[in-house]
Amino acid sequence: MSNYDALIARLAEINYLAQAGAVLGWDHQCYMPSGGAQARAESLAVISKIAHEMSVADETKRLLEGAEAEISGVDLDDDRALTLRVVRRNYDKAAKLPTSLVAAISRETAIGHETWVHAREKSDWSLFAPTVERLLDLSRQVADCLGHTGNRYDALLDQYEPGMKTADVARVFGELRPGLVALVKDIAAAPPVSDDILRRDFDEAGQLAFGEKVIRRLGFDFTRGRQDRAVHPFCTSFGRNDVRITTRFDKNWLPMALMGTIHETGHALYEQGFDPKDDATPLSGATSLGFHESQSRLWENIVGRSRAFWNVFYPDLQAQFPGTLDDVDVDTFYRAINRVDPSLIRVEADEVTYCLHIMLRFEMEQAMISGDLAVADVPAAWNEKMRDYLGITPPNDAEGCLQDVHWSGASFGYFPTYAIGTILSAQLFEKAVAEKPAIPVELAAGEFAGLLDWLREKVHRPGQRYQPAELVQRICGEPAQSHSYLKYLNEKFRDVYQIS
Ligand code: ZN
Repeated sequence: MSNYDALIARLAEINYLAQAGAVLGWDHQCYMPSGGAQARAESLAVISKIAHEMSVADETKRLLEGAEAEISGVDLDDDRALTLRVVRRNYDKAAKLPTSLVAAISRETAIGHETWVHAREKSDWSLFAPTVERLLDLSRQVADCLGHTGNRYDALLDQYEPGMKTADVARVFGELRPGLVALVKDIAAAPPVSDDILRRDFDEAGQLAFGEKVIRRLGFDFTRGRQDRAVHPFCTSFGRNDVRITTRFDKNWLPMALMGTIHETGHALYEQGFDPKDDATPLSGATSLGFHESQSRLWENIVGRSRAFWNVFYPDLQAQFPGTLDDVDVDTFYRAINRVDPSLIRVEADEVTYCLHIMLRFEMEQAMISGDLAVADVPAAWNEKMRDYLGITPPNDAEGCLQDVHWSGASFGYFPTYAIGTILSAQLFEKAVAEKPAIPVELAAGEFAGLLDWLREKVHRPGQRYQPAELVQRICGEPAQSHSYLKYLNEKFRDVYQIS
């Protein structure tokens, strides 16, 4: 057997081990009784320890170096070359981090999560600040181990969005900000839109049934996936033939379960769409978190909050909840589900203001990592940026700088991927329509296969063959840019708010 084949076989074993861990993680969030927490934590720790040891073992290194020698000289577009590029990158990243640092982060984040929950309950940043101080210090060490050319944030960002630099994000956000701020201002001056109708009584069984009907139509394959309830909505997968999504319900807030279900379905369609010939190889996977989010946002917002979509589904929704929406026409419903309202909480933000929440975090994180912003000054800096960007001031830390879980997990550099994905969703959709002009007509008829097929071919099946910047360039013929997103927002929301 060649070194290459032996390496792939070994990585497949690690992959199956990680899948077993993912099953345990999914069960933890969906079905495990609370009494199982201790043993489950031990099981998961053992699995990740074995997987990490196998990944960085001398044998893996030997096979990788042997495989690289075997294929030297082949075309760089050859699948073996592309595979080894992924493996080399993952190996170097894992090997660069000393086990002691990984263990320190794991300990500090386990305690950090509890501390964050407590501080948020008390709405008191000072209770969380010492933890943040330590996690920032550990994150700086991670950045230095991984390597950078002077900006530690580059190394942190690269963990989530391979190849993307802080300057790239700053450029895209810089293009986006003025347009967003102007649109928010125009919407604020327009007559308000009410979303009260979405707060009527919608029983949970009805919401579940309607959501399931919708995602079947979108293309979620229930023979290769399932949907369960969980406290936090998420998507996880154990290979492309077993993809799980979760949903949470609020009887008096229709968008939570419905739009959350469509969002997670967007993630699931990506996972179900990897190329079958890549199964259990390093090529089967998402190229980045930003690309993953582009798929969820595209289906949730560009499709699921469109007028065409509701023209198709609104009669079904009315029939699902007899008497509840009889007095509401489709146009009123469409405007309600697209209401824009600058608000304090990121996860509840509408399409127009969402990226402003991310820009704030991106700027805060850079200043925290560089040390320009002292941890004690975070609440004041946060509130000032909220006033600048959204015109509102958080009344307390819980609704301000303590709202997100990410920092307690030392996930500095993660936030930008949400906005990058959002921007990409519009750029990709624009390209899809340019290449297949029938797509809008099909969507208006409730046919989603044409769009899904295009995404399968361009985004899903390439898997991890290309880094995100390469994939955007291959698909769109240009780098990630924000004008498609701004154009989309302006056309849509100037119509929703009847701004001339
Ligand atoms: Zn998502």
